[in-house]
Amino acid sequence: MEELYADFVVIGSGPAGQKGAVQAAKLGKSVIVIEKENSLGGSSLNSGTIPSKSLREAILDLTGFYKRSFYGHEKLISEISINDLNYRLQKVLGEQRTILEKQFEKNKIKLVFGTATFIDKNHLIVKRKDQNILCKIKGEFFLIATGSQPRNPLEIPFDNEKILDSTRLLSIDHVPKTMLVLGGGIIGAEYASFFSALGTAVTVVDKRDHLLPLLDREVGLHLQKALGQLGLQVAGNKELKSIAKVGDHVEVLCKDGTELTAEMLLYALGREANVDSLGIENVGITLDQKGYIPVNALFQTVLTHIYAAGDVIGGPSLASTSMEQGRLTARHAFGVRTHHFPTFYPIGIYTIPEISYCGYSEEELKALGFSYEVGRAYYYEIARNQIIGNDPGMFKILFHAETLEILGIHIIGREATEVIHIGQVAMSFNARIDYFIDQVFNYPTYAEGYRIAALNGYNKVKHKK
Ligand SMILES: Cc1cc2nc3c(=O)[nH]c(=O)nc-3n(C[C@H](O)[C@H](O)[C@H](O)COP(=O)(O)OP(=O)(O)OC[C@H]3O[C@@H](n4cnc5c(N)ncnc54)[C@H](O)[C@@H]3O)c2cc1C
Repeated sequence: MEELYADFVVIGSGPAGQKGAVQAAKLGKSVIVIEKENSLGGSSLNSGTIPSKSLREAILDLTGFYKRSFYGHEKLISEISINDLNYRLQKVLGEQRTILEKQFEKNKIKLVFGTATFIDKNHLIVKRKDQNILCKIKGEFFLIATGSQPRNPLEIPFDNEKILDSTRLLSIDHVPKTMLVLGGGIIGAEYASFFSALGTAVTVVDKRDHLLPLLDREVGLHLQKALGQLGLQVAGNKELKSIAKVGDHVEVLCKDGTELTAEMLLYALGREANVDSLGIENVGITLDQKGYIPVNALFQTVLTHIYAAGDVIGGPSLASTSMEQGRLTARHAFGVRTHHFPTFYPIGIYTIPEISYCGYSEEELKALGFSYEVGRAYYYEIARNQIIGNDPGMFKILFHAETLEILGIHIIGREATEVIHIGQVAMSFNARIDYFIDQVFNYPTYAEGYRIAALNGYNKVKHKK
């Protein structure tokens, strides 16, 4: 059996593992990344962020979604095949994989394919699929970046055709005419909106009465209206009793007696940390109540030379946050001056329409007793929007009514996940709402929404100034 050594041993090649590995290599350290066969890039690349967002763009393009208000449908939805959608998906995944391989090669990061298991505090073994041990690796520092997978309860009869999780959904062989989505969280809401835009009759089933309860309520209502216009239905206040395959359909029975049927079902009720074959019990790391690896603010586990980052430590469970967590672990391990993980950062939700926000929601400000005011700009007021597609949307800026400091920015509509960063930067420099008024913005742009919203908000408080 081969024996290897590295200063930094990373388990998992998703966003957290990648950025940790590259940072350690840039500091001149020897790095080994261990990844399961055929999973380079993590769930982010193979079944999460990248495929879902590639699918979204393919749907928007092929349905001529943004041209509908001018030219009607570009292509009949019934003409779009799963092959049309998969073509783009495979192309993007291939390109992303190549870039990653090159990045590892350039930084002399050694990739070992297999499943890693700790055998003691300083060693792990890597097994192949056939269970043969490939090598033993000694490390000075370790990063557990093993991510998460869909939670698949045993009583749900998953297959690859009708009863699907977000990973299996990527291998369907046709676009369904009807679909049930269980769970109105981010993954459920995103896919529900994608398939609605594609022409599938989608119903989201959730125990709450509306989708995405994490949103500012006004933005949530805006989303609900936009999704309703796409034809998406929400069966709210429903608790699941059973799921069964009946003939060529899926049948869902709810506790209140409601029966729902569809051609396909997406089960999007949570994810769980990948810890099964890690052997953390061999080193004395125990999981928290939700099954995640507990870490301190520096992402160290109970063993200070073993770090954990990304989905395996629990929320926010985003590729964006996982990357930064991973990078910070390597910096801390090798004694480089660094900062704490930011206390606020943008959340991007790629429903159609997309949403992004940063900072407090109006409900949070109320609960905290802040004296605040709101500035709004609707997309119909923004020239750029009229030029490119007349899509629904809104900017909502929350700011302190006396100091004018910006407290929260919420955007729903086209380009929301891009333009949020302007507000994020302003907030991180403690900008006041009038900052946006005193600047010149390119015209016509979506970013101009900041100025329109700021003027709207400022006019409500200016008599007090
Ligand atoms: C459908 C979907 C859409 C998403 N969309 C977005 C989005 O738009 N934006 C966003 O920021 N986030 C999004 N996310 C979340 C994002 O994908 C995750 O937060 C991110 O992938 C977590 O990164 P990670 O590095 O922690 O783990 P992962 O990407 O899950 O990678 C972990 C890797 O570790 C490997 N591994 C596990 N155990 C072992 C072991 N014992 N030995 C060797 N290797 C092992 C796994 O094979 C896996 O490849 C989405 C997720 C899903 C499911």
